[in-house]
Amino acid sequence: MPVNKTKYYEIKKELEPKNITLVAVSKVRTDKDILELYNEGQRDFGENYVQEIVEKQGLLPKDTRLHFIGHLQSNKVKQIVSFVHLIHGVDSLKLLREISKQGAKINRVIHCLLQIHIAEEQTKFGLNEEELLNVIAEVKQKPMEYAHIFIDGLMGMATFSDDEEKVRGEFKYLKYMFDKYKDVTTLNCNLTILSMGMSDDYKWAIEEGSTMIRIGSLLFGRRI
Ligand SMILES: *Cc1c(COP(=O)(O)O)cnc(C)c1O
Repeated sequence: MPVNKTKYYEIKKELEPKNITLVAVSKVRTDKDILELYNEGQRDFGENYVQEIVEKQGLLPKDTRLHFIGHLQSNKVKQIVSFVHLIHGVDSLKLLREISKQGAKINRVIHCLLQIHIAEEQTKFGLNEEELLNVIAEVKQKPMEYAHIFIDGLMGMATFSDDEEKVRGEFKYLKYMFDKYKDVTTLNCNLTILSMGMSDDYKWAIEEGSTMIRIGSLLFGRRI
């Protein structure tokens, strides 16, 4: 399936006036497909699997910004800390501590987003508000334990549904959380990024206040 450059430019045009970042989700696509978009100027790419992001990192130009958007297991953190641009799906203190520990070993601060559970499906990961508060409080109280992470914002995935009201409601809730906590500024936390919106719901996500969208299928075709 060829990369859809027309769609790429169409989306870029929609995002530009609003200063929204496009992460091109390239999981299961070849490095050749990625390079096709790279050559159009795209630099931010999102990957879900550790082995895949590591392999691709070795093949892609050094100024490619690789985002990890999947569910990260603590025991795999060390494989990606040396190059990852932003980890979107952090959903526990245990994971955050491990990321900071691995970051410390190579003296690199790892940028992270906290994933909030907004969908109906229980299979989707994420923190509830109480857990989010707990993470922020802990990071604030023990800055040295988390010296090599920086929390840049929140991420969420809406329910897989074409019920516009429902999906918008979930995005609204995430935006509300973002606004509520964005003034909490600590040594290693300042919420400026709101990562929400995928191929099927990004237009709603933008209207509800997204600052970063993650698009795969519209650019690279449906995954099989
Ligand atoms: C796969 C994936 C996307 C992209 O999905 P599309 O529907 O192909 O745009 C976005 N975010 C996450 C977390 C994903 O796993």
